[in-house]
Amino acid sequence: MSKDCIQSARGMYDILPENYGYWRKLKRVFSEVCEIAGFGYIETPAVENKDLFIRSVGKKSEIVNKELFGVTRLSEDKEKIISNVLRPEGTAGIVRSYIENGMQSQSQPVKLYYQGSFWRYERPQAGRFRQFYQLGMEIIGDDNSESDAYIIMLAYQFLQKLGLSDKMIIEINTIGDSKDRPVIIKSLKNYFKPFLAQLPEDAKNQYEENILRILDSKDPMVQKLLEGAPQIMDMLSVDSHKRFKKTLEALDELEIEYILNPHLVRGFDYYTHIVFEIRDSADENRQASIGGGGRYNSLVKELGGPDIGAIGCAFGAERIIEKLKSFKITPDIITQPKVYLIQIGEKAKKKCLNIVYRLNQFNIPIAPILGERDSLRSQLKFVDKQNAPIAVIIGQKEALEGTAIIRNMKDGVQETVDFDELILKLQDSLDIVCS
Ligand code: AMP
Repeated sequence: MSKDCIQSARGMYDILPENYGYWRKLKRVFSEVCEIAGFGYIETPAVENKDLFIRSVGKKSEIVNKELFGVTRLSEDKEKIISNVLRPEGTAGIVRSYIENGMQSQSQPVKLYYQGSFWRYERPQAGRFRQFYQLGMEIIGDDNSESDAYIIMLAYQFLQKLGLSDKMIIEINTIGDSKDRPVIIKSLKNYFKPFLAQLPEDAKNQYEENILRILDSKDPMVQKLLEGAPQIMDMLSVDSHKRFKKTLEALDELEIEYILNPHLVRGFDYYTHIVFEIRDSADENRQASIGGGGRYNSLVKELGGPDIGAIGCAFGAERIIEKLKSFKITPDIITQPKVYLIQIGEKAKKKCLNIVYRLNQFNIPIAPILGERDSLRSQLKFVDKQNAPIAVIIGQKEALEGTAIIRNMKDGVQETVDFDELILKLQDSLDIVCS
């Protein structure tokens, strides 16, 4: 590659044809799981108002503070800067759309699913990109623990259909609701106060800004302190405790395996009650979850909608594809031409597209050979490389006589047929080679 070549932006990558079978599998299976469950597909814009994420994910969250990609421009009158951002996650935009499109007047809950790209200005590393792709689902307008278990069940079914469920583990925790939160914050602050001076800088900030985040600190010293810290479970109200227990009982009933992780908290401010993450069970260091979610009961109201409960989850496509590859799970097969049209000489070349066009109309999967390949040898070599089982050859003689040669690429057997017979004969040959 020459030095002058422009490369993709840092942390961004291309989805190439050779990988597309995995992408297609992921998107297809996720759509099937969601659609069978009655989820409607929603696509919200990549660009949203910055305030949406300040009010949902949280002003002090890492994502809003450090990771937003800005899309700014001057207003028409050049008086002010319009500050939009690329969406860093899916839930906030969907809740905005739910409210804006009056979905509260539909029968509740409203179940929605999405697939798309998201952007976070993170330090790129394995499994962490600045543009990444998520597949997610939301149930908006239901506060029952049945929805909590149902979302986890669907997430599990998705993994099951991909062939990954026995290799992954679901970690679950509860972080209580807005009534439990002051009690939890106060007691964690009391516990950490005597150690404040020794805490690493990150943890000191978390102590001030969002003490719950200290719970999933990777710092060994903080982790040691956490061993003696008060447990959220012991500080929950009776109701919060009950609903968590009910969800776990439903999962037990479904025989879906999970582990309770009392230190699991997530990066967004909007979560209440249950939170969960899914990771490879062999990934003991909890480096890279493949998906996660939780309940967000205050978010709809916070964004100007009714006071209703909701829950959702999202999977990271890149990380799941890595898993599919490492566990040697087969990708979807992408449709390819089964027949190539070889053309030799000017007359044949002239007829080529016309023949392909007519045959395509009869659903024959045939494509022309493009580019500078004139000889029969080089064109046959090309067909071989593409693994197409049949070639149709039209040379000067065939073009004049109105015939074509059908060649079985496997055994080299050839048959000359009239143009009029070509469709039927090709259909027969395809039936034989594809059976
Ligand atoms: P989150 O929206 O942070 O709950 O993330 C949900 C899932 O999206 C994670 O479990 C990851 O699989 C994936 N994910 C989040 N951030 C990134 C990123 N920067 N690069 C790749 N995947 C990501």
